Amino acid sequence: MTDRYAVVGHPVAHSLSPEIHAAFARQTGHNLEYARLLAPLNGFATTVDEFRASGGCGVNVTVPFKFDAFKYCEPAASALAAEAANTLDFRAGTIRGYNTDGSGLITDLEHNLGFTICGQRVLVMGAGGATYGVLHPLLEAQSKLLVVANRTIDKAVALVERARQKFSGHDLAAKPYDALDGAQFDLVINATSAGLRDEMPPLPPSVFAPGALAYDMVYARQTPFMTFAKRHGARTADGLGMLVEQAAEAFLIWRGVRPETRAVIAAMRDRT
Ligand code: NDP
Repeated sequence: MTDRYAVVGHPVAHSLSPEIHAAFARQTGHNLEYARLLAPLNGFATTVDEFRASGGCGVNVTVPFKFDAFKYCEPAASALAAEAANTLDFRAGTIRGYNTDGSGLITDLEHNLGFTICGQRVLVMGAGGATYGVLHPLLEAQSKLLVVANRTIDKAVALVERARQKFSGHDLAAKPYDALDGAQFDLVINATSAGLRDEMPPLPPSVFAPGALAYDMVYARQTPFMTFAKRHGARTADGLGMLVEQAAEAFLIWRGVRPETRAVIAAMRDRT
């Protein structure tokens, strides 16, 4: 029988995951099916229960269910660090949960974009699920300074306090946007959803150090943040590489082989 996987979300029609995993399957010669599952907003567990009962081998989890997925699974270290899961594996008779967003971002930055995080000053905007997923991996990559800025500052403070318990020796801070004036960063990551509505956080233009990289996790569109960053001298990247790299990590967990990603990123870029 063909192994079956799916991405669970609400909405989910826009997800590129089926195309990405189909490309990985062709490349590696694996026989699998990968579908989109639209779960009701209060129906994550029921939807995944039904998929498992019908023989499904695993799911990817997207907005807004990554925290539900964490509660639903036995979390591996990556999911524990993020308190959220985006990859569930059912094959061992358990529901093992992982978070591959962080490693996806790090691989995209370091491997695809040639940006070495070690020793750099990093600003992450946003304190939602995406920031939970990437904060520990960015600290493990030995950024020199990591600041989390968020519109609702309490959320950034809580996130940073939690990370401090594990990374006590790191230079780590939570700041409101209006406290960023005068500070400079080598890497500025937009982990907010503002770009989806053609908005951007109130960022002072002085944050971009000479040669800075401005990275927007939103993909397949030119966001106001990317336009702003370019205007103020930064080079820019969107989150398509992260999306494909987090999928490659999920494929590795499920299938034991990590696909080549460069051609798949290029193919997805052509589709969007
Ligand atoms: P959440 O809804 O959990 O968090 C959204 C965050 O954006 C909050 O911190 C919110 O601030 C902030 N925000 C929203 N609008 C604005 C605005 N106009 N100005 C300032 N801040 C704003 O979303 P996620 O963290 O799950 O995802 C964030 C983005 O990252 C999404 O667009 C998602 O598509 C993308 N993403 C991309 C991935 C990839 O592989 N490329 C992987 C994961 C996510 P506040 O707390 O004040 O409300």
